[in-house]
Amino acid sequence: MVQFVGVPQMRRWIATVGAEPIVAAMMDAVEEDLRHWRRFDKTARIASHSPVGVIELMPTSDGAQYAFKYVNGHPSNPSRGLQTVTAFGVLADVSSGYPVLMAEMTLLTALRTAATSGVAARALARPGSTHLALIGAGSQAEFQALGMRAAVGIESVAVWDTDPAALDKFERNMRGSGLRVRRASSAADAVAGADVITTCTADKTNATVLTADMIEPGVHVNAIGGDCPGKTELEAAILTQADVVAIEFEPQTRIEGEIQQMPANFPVTALWDVLNREAPGRTADAQITVFDSVGFAMEDFSALRFLLASVHGTDFVEEIDLIADPADPKDLFGLTVTEHARA
Ligand code: NAD
Repeated sequence: MVQFVGVPQMRRWIATVGAEPIVAAMMDAVEEDLRHWRRFDKTARIASHSPVGVIELMPTSDGAQYAFKYVNGHPSNPSRGLQTVTAFGVLADVSSGYPVLMAEMTLLTALRTAATSGVAARALARPGSTHLALIGAGSQAEFQALGMRAAVGIESVAVWDTDPAALDKFERNMRGSGLRVRRASSAADAVAGADVITTCTADKTNATVLTADMIEPGVHVNAIGGDCPGKTELEAAILTQADVVAIEFEPQTRIEGEIQQMPANFPVTALWDVLNREAPGRTADAQITVFDSVGFAMEDFSALRFLLASVHGTDFVEEIDLIADPADPKDLFGLTVTEHARA
């Protein structure tokens, strides 16, 4: 039997435990796997592009477990009442090849993306960061805000989105969170005085959500919305201005990240090297750091293994009969013969 966490179970799990405590604990799982990156099979995700979006497969394995995620990115979907990003995924046992867990991953991706942002900010943001600017108030936004509090202890958020309804929704969802929320009038207004800036907009274009003149000394930029060829958020000058541009898996990020705008030899630092102290991260308060996040398969692996450990044996998971597994492994056909026909 395969463990199954569908949307109802995932919703109940998050509502019961809380998004912030989950992201806080998931950060440790993501960080542990990133620190052990050498154990993992690493490939850039397999992307199928269309004029309106992308469908991707994201596989990886540490030799004991294997995971993949199916995920899409369609920035115009919300105008049709659909999510920009949806996903599901599987965790499997390498020794048998059998899947052990199948899960919805639209919500889980929001948690794991917040956890990954948190891991990067823990490593790179200035100590004592308390103020977040959030550009883009869509599906990822609340998870990013709560995750950043879990990571570095932010107390206030200035939020900007070109869609006033998204701002209304963010304010509504954050009511009672304890975070002080300020509705900004522009991106420049939002980022003024921020310690950490998270950009999580969706537009299938080389957008300029942030320009270099908006970046103050000491800020950490967490750029998550530029994650496809031809889809970026930062003015290129921000990358040249930054002291550290941290990335996930370089061959993937060179194609998909903000650094697709830069020459092939533009200097970057692997986040896992910073975590392992094999490369310097921030070395002074006044430095500007950027995490050019695109989302890497290892983070989904971490999220799935963390989910399985968290829900195993609870009613947040059920079993599904997904794998045909006859008692006689050679008699697969026998599964198709009814008792009646046998008689
Ligand atoms: P969404 O469509 O729900 O929200 C995006 C928001 O951005 C919308 O509210 C939209 O109005 C706003 N927006 C668009 N252009 C803007 C601009 N110029 N200024 C301000 N706001 C603007 O999407 P989502 O699910 O929240 O995802 C956000 C982005 O993050 C997407 O691009 C998605 O592909 C990306 N993403 C990245 C990762 C990762 O690991 N790096 C993971 C998940 C999602």
